[in-house]
Amino acid sequence: MEAKRQSREGSMKKRALITGASRGIGEAVARRLASEDYDLCLVCKNSIEKLWLLAGELKAESGISCETYACDVSDPQQVTSMLQQAGTIDVLIHNAGISHIGLLSDMTLEEWNRVIDTNLNSCFYLSHGLIPQMVHRKEGKLLFVSSVWGNVGASMEVAYSASKGGINSFTRALAKELAPSGITVNSVSPGIIDTRMNAAFDKAELAEETPLERLGTPEEVAETVLFLAENKYITGQDISVSGGIVV
Ligand code: NAP
Repeated sequence: MEAKRQSREGSMKKRALITGASRGIGEAVARRLASEDYDLCLVCKNSIEKLWLLAGELKAESGISCETYACDVSDPQQVTSMLQQAGTIDVLIHNAGISHIGLLSDMTLEEWNRVIDTNLNSCFYLSHGLIPQMVHRKEGKLLFVSSVWGNVGASMEVAYSASKGGINSFTRALAKELAPSGITVNSVSPGIIDTRMNAAFDKAELAEETPLERLGTPEEVAETVLFLAENKYITGQDISVSGGIVV
């Protein structure tokens, strides 16, 4: 495992691994953590060129180290190999996720499994791979990007809602299990955020569904992720960044 570097203030630098960092919320989290001097490992599945550009930009702007990995988080073997290369990780931000819009009765088993593997089973693969090193150091943070729909349920998004509800239970249970080892586990649940995931929907209609009458920005979610990444006494919690959509 690589030696840790010193931060601008002289303390040991923290290394964060961010999945789904090629755009949207994950990209905003990468930019926010880079501005706080975190060294980064950025992960996506297909858009590796975008990650290279982002990493180059963050290294030049913030002087951080920034590695990039093409890894399908729904594939346990790819996750194991990526984590072996990444080495020491202080903070996991597992943000990669996919949605599937349509009636459950029209959904194929393959489509169902793709959503559950990508959104929920990946939490197991990543956590399982990282917990031993965190337990060994007696510190670490696991952060999952869930969704308000995991609590309230969304029509036409049953698999997605089930996967995110699973993340919330996973978070609460794992937090209890890992607390004696000094590891915190939390999730952030965005409401409706202005990213490519919502590109197919009418923005004005989405805004109407939100008490604050607008979509959230990826930067607003990233601010909450940073708060949890820095906090030492919150664990087993889910924080909604939802413009007032009640869970
Ligand atoms: P997005 O713009 O569609 O970005 C998704 C990211 O996940 C991309 O970087 C994508 O990488 C990556 N990804 C997808 N499948 C992957 C896989 N199998 N392996 C590795 N990376 C994969 O989505 P977003 O809106 O930023 O959403 C980020 C997270 O927030 C998701 O978990 C989503 O469920 C959650 N969320 C979003 C909203 C919202 O309104 N936008 C609301 C609630 C929760 P590639 O570029 O390689 O495809």
